[in-house]
Parts: sequence; C-alpha cells; structure tokens
Amino acid sequence: MSESEFDIIHHYFTDLSPAVTDVRSVVLGIGDDAAIVQPAQDQQLLIAIDTLNCGVHFSEQCSPADIGYKALAVNLSDIAAMGGEPLWFTLALSLPESDPQWLAEFCSGMRELLQQYPVSLIGGDTTRGPLSITIQIAGQVPATAALRRDQLSIGDDLYITGNPGEAAAGLALSDTVIVNEQQRQLLQRLHRPEPRVALGQALRGIAHACIDVSDGLSADLSHMLNASAEHQAQPTGACLFAESLPVSAALQDTVSSITQQREYILHGGDDYELCFSAAPEQKQVIEALAMQYGLAITCIGQVIAEPGLFLQENQQRQPITPAGFDHFRYYP
Ligand code: ADP
Ligand code: MG
Repeated sequence: MSESEFDIIHHYFTDLSPAVTDVRSVVLGIGDDAAIVQPAQDQQLLIAIDTLNCGVHFSEQCSPADIGYKALAVNLSDIAAMGGEPLWFTLALSLPESDPQWLAEFCSGMRELLQQYPVSLIGGDTTRGPLSITIQIAGQVPATAALRRDQLSIGDDLYITGNPGEAAAGLALSDTVIVNEQQRQLLQRLHRPEPRVALGQALRGIAHACIDVSDGLSADLSHMLNASAEHQAQPTGACLFAESLPVSAALQDTVSSITQQREYILHGGDDYELCFSAAPEQKQVIEALAMQYGLAITCIGQVIAEPGLFLQENQQRQPITPAGFDHFRYYP
C-alpha cells in the first residue's frame, strides 16, 4: 500500500534532520508549522532557492539518486559562490505518486552530500503533482565578507575552477550508449556537480567578485559584468584568453571538433564551477589554494574598462555573444 503524506515525511525526511538541538543551531526541526533556528552573532544570513522540474532540468530517465543529489548540490553551490557556510535547508517536493523505492533512492542521493556537508533538513512541503523539487537553503557568512557578483574591479584577473564545458558535453551524451571512462566522467559532471563550498569560503578577502556557473560561462560572466557596471557606475568588460581556457582530457577525447569544445566551455551550462576575479597580486595565494584543495583554478582572462565580453586569440580580440540557458528566452 502506498504511504500517506505524513508517512512519507516521517519515514524519509525526519532522519535527514537533526534529532536534537545541535551545534548548527536548530532549535526545532521538522514537525511544527515552522522550524526555529538561531543565527549566530556577527554573521549575515544567506538565503537561496532552486527548483528542478522534470522535463526541464532533468529527463524522465534520470535516476532518483541523481535528482536528489543535484537538487541539493545546486543549492550548496549558491552558498559556495557567496563564500558562505551552508547550514539549513527546506525541501518542497511535488510527486506524481507515493513511490517508496523512488523516495528511498532520492534520499540516498541527498544523503551522499550530507555526509560531506553538515546541513540540516528543517522542514518542507510534500504534495501530489508533476515531479518537481524545490530546495531552499540558508547559510551564514561573517558580516560584510560575502562574495558578490557586482564587485569586479578593472585590472582584476578572472579565474575559473575545474573544467567548464564538461557537463554540457555530458548532456550531449545523454541518449547515447556510454562506451568508455571519459564519457562516463562527462555524464558524472552533469549529474553529480561538486559544489565548491570550501574554496568559496577560502576566497573571502581574496576574490573581489564571484559567481557559480550554472547558465554557462559567457552568460554568468555577463551577469557579473552587468551587475558590476551598475553597482560601480562605470563601464566594465572582460577579455578571455582563448589559449588559457582549460580543456580537460575527457572533453578533448570525446568531442573531436575544437569549435564544439570551445562552444561547450564558453556557453555550456550546469558545471557549478566558481568564476571569480581577484587583483593580480593574489596570483600566488590562488595557486596555493588550488594546491590545498586539489582543484584546478585557471586564470582565463582579465577585467577591462571597455564594456563587453571579448575573446583574445592570436593577438586579436573578437566580441563574444553571451549564450546560455534562459527559461523564457532560449538562445543557442
Ligand atoms: P503545515 O500543514 O503546517 O504546513 P505540513 O503538514 O505540510 O505542515 O508538514 C508537517 C511537517 O513536516 C512540517 O514541519 C513540515 O516542515 C515538514 N515537512 C513536510 N514535507 C517535508 C519534506 N518534503 N521535507 C522535510 N520536511 C517536510
Ligand atoms: Mg501549519
């Protein structure tokens, strides 16, 4: 017999929540009309929310564990991009039916991340309807230390973590039979993004501006340029160096066309890497962070006073037209 709404909450979700008042300052978790949490002194709260809809953000074939993992990972990534420490989350789940196996696998995907990041599920909503998952997350950051997207400074170096473009290459493989380890790695990057939480916190006081790449490097960089130009009331542009863009072995070996590789790197979405800027004097500090966290951090360009986004190759600068995912204005 299928479980009721309250069976589901009790059976699957209460054990993702802390049992007792804990160091994470949960005064009251799941069960009442609202959770009670106690923010720490001298910290600012960060709040973010992301929805994953079936057929839009993931396909019907996607495994429940991957969906659970990704729904939480993309929210952790938003806290990472602000330089924050994730603390609490709520889960609004819309399910076509009460399916015990689906729910158990979905929770196992979330639990994998909870082993790495001690965030507590403190409430939510469970309803019947087309499959959709919304997670709202809260985190904290020392007052005024948050990394913002509107803080690009002219002359800054621009950096990207990891290997952008791999998730988009993985998406292109979704309907094919996976034949080797590299293809499997690209698909993994699509389904299991790694939120850069520790690095985000380490970049406080070092990075000027930061964003996580969800829509695509060109699109998210444009968001930073627009926000910074507006916030600082001065023209702000960026020039990327084509030779510096990181191309992973998996991308190189799986996608033969160099034009297509670059398309994925510049415009592919869903990587959840951090794109940030820092003063040139920080170069060695950033190299040391890359070593410390075992994560590639590549300098890919510079913030310039000429508005627009450019790609420099063989001493020539070409404008890049930002492209990326927009739910209501799909542009290739
Ligand atoms: P209410 O009717 O007061 O809004 P609900 O009956 O929807 O509360 O939920 C009962 C309790 O279970 C609440 O504390 C709510 O936060 C929690 N809850 C409901 N669905 C979920 C979920 N998917 N994940 C975590 N907690 C949930
Ligand atoms: Mg109520």
